[in-house]
Amino acid sequence: MYFPLIKHTTPKRLRQLERNVGSMKYRVWRAKVLERDDNTCQWSGCTQKEGLEIHHIKRWANNLHLRYNVFNGITLCKEHHQSIFNREATYEVVFLKTVIRNDELLQQRKGKSGTDVQDTKGLKGESSVDIPKPPGGDIQGSPASG
Ligand SMILES: [Zn+2]
Repeated sequence: MYFPLIKHTTPKRLRQLERNVGSMKYRVWRAKVLERDDNTCQWSGCTQKEGLEIHHIKRWANNLHLRYNVFNGITLCKEHHQSIFNREATYEVVFLKTVIRNDELLQQRKGKSGTDVQDTKGLKGESSVDIPKPPGGDIQGSPASG
């Protein structure tokens, strides 16, 4: 088969086209990745929260079915995104492990917090929190040393 349109399309142009065509899908995907990664660069030791970009762990041009898979995206700051340019494959495994772990953490957060705050607030009136004392009576002040 012959695809005249694609023949003259550079990868960069393809990427631009894709982002326009699928912009809504792309934005949803991007938002999910950012949420899962806590809006922080996932580079080991980096805590950058601004200027974030989403890196496709596996090049989407070669893995069309993964393009909007949240496990194929990872949050990186601009600096680290650029630092892996042309070395993407080297980081596939590390990044994949990172996003799987992040997803587990996200599921835990969602599962445990449920409806959030509102649940118990206001139900117990004004009673202050009762901290049980440890058995064995009060512990006296530290013995005078010397
Ligand atoms: Zn970074």
